[in-house]
Amino acid sequence: MILNNSEKQAHYNAPQHEHIHDDYEFFLDALRDKGVRITEQRKAVIQALLSSKTHPTAIQLHEMLLETYPTMSLATVYNNLNTLIDYDLIIELQSNDGSTHYDYYHNNEPHYHAICSSCGKIVDFKYPVLSDVELVAQRVTGFQKTSHQMEIHGICPECQEHMADLHPHQLMKH
Ligand code: ZN
Ligand code: MN
Repeated sequence: MILNNSEKQAHYNAPQHEHIHDDYEFFLDALRDKGVRITEQRKAVIQALLSSKTHPTAIQLHEMLLETYPTMSLATVYNNLNTLIDYDLIIELQSNDGSTHYDYYHNNEPHYHAICSSCGKIVDFKYPVLSDVELVAQRVTGFQKTSHQMEIHGICPECQEHMADLHPHQLMKH
């Protein structure tokens, strides 16, 4: 989904352009550390995601990339996204429409997501990192954690208003 700038700013300080460079270098360093080959196409996919202020799908990223790389296939975009996921550099989010969206953590600081079950909008919110939850999960399950995500599913304010207009007798009580 597309948030306009004021909506986005209201919820989350979106990465500013001067910071994208730092995130980009962080990604490249992390991949080099793991011995992952860094191709021009891999760099391009990373830059496309880092410069996106929304939570794009692979198809949306592909459309962005085609402007500069007209021969890049959608499969290449998927392959690169999957590599970045394998190394915990980016995350996947499932929207209610079944589409997969991609995101990353600016400055490697986790943020969390609220996802509208009605329109599929994905909104960022910040909360202190859930280290306690990770520890509990490790203790209870014996898993060694590599990452965690938190999603809140519900109805966004716009959809609440829309529903109230459609069903005035079922107005939600606050
Ligand atoms: Zn909504
Ligand atoms: Mn996000």
